[in-house]
Amino acid sequence: KEIEPLLRHLSAQQTQLKPDRAAIENAALIRQEFSANVSHELKTPLHVISGYAELFENGLVKEEDIKPFAKKIHAESLRMTKLIEDIIELTKLDNGGTEMKWEKCDFYSIAENAVDTLESAASDMNIKLIVNGENAPVTAIPQMIYSIVYNLCDNAIKYSQPNGYVSVTVTQNDHYTVLTVKDTGIGIQEEEQKRIFERFYRVDKSRSKEVCGTGLGLSIVKHAVMIHKGNIRLNSVFGKGSEFIVTIPNYPGIT
Ligand code: ADP
Repeated sequence: KEIEPLLRHLSAQQTQLKPDRAAIENAALIRQEFSANVSHELKTPLHVISGYAELFENGLVKEEDIKPFAKKIHAESLRMTKLIEDIIELTKLDNGGTEMKWEKCDFYSIAENAVDTLESAASDMNIKLIVNGENAPVTAIPQMIYSIVYNLCDNAIKYSQPNGYVSVTVTQNDHYTVLTVKDTGIGIQEEEQKRIFERFYRVDKSRSKEVCGTGLGLSIVKHAVMIHKGNIRLNSVFGKGSEFIVTIPNYPGIT
């Protein structure tokens, strides 16, 4: 009888421990799967690069093939660089962004900078890129805010037909800042909408696989939003376009 409360306490503790252990095991599994995917994704471009380089080494490349083969090597090495950069960024996020500094900054001007970098990619496809909004002071990790806007906007351009529109809007109230990135692009089917936030996931259908990408952009965005205690929503109609809406508290440390 005396030890009954103790037993009850212990069993309560055990049920509490069980989900913890499950979470740890699950995290280990996810890490393992991620490493396997990284190795696979890096091996593919490296394989192409070394294959073409070997042809050059053995003098097997005809004059007219020199340029296209060199172009292929160049493209694949750029792809590898982008993959490595994205992986480094994700690893930083996995560590909770602890080595990055929270600062007072203006969400709107960061958004403008990110969009500026993509101006030429948009004009190459004759896509109108518009930024709306006004100053929006926040306490945030500026590199991460940049990365959120950059990745969403980069996708909005990449997964659009020529002559489309991409609009980026930043609004703010007393508590929250809202970023909306809207495109008139290819859209995302309902059943794909959850999966696109997974690491390395890319939609197979439509033409999105022909577009250059690592499949890591949206997982970086989702993670960065999470660190800012915000949320991300998606409205999309297949064939019509998509709208990503990010909401973050102005002062995540306080709210
Ligand atoms: P990446 O663009 O490098 O493939 P992301 O993680 O950024 O990787 O996106 C995952 C997938 O989601 C993309 O491959 C694409 O199929 C789909 N996607 C993302 N953004 C859009 C968009 N704005 N319109 C249509 N499809 C999109």
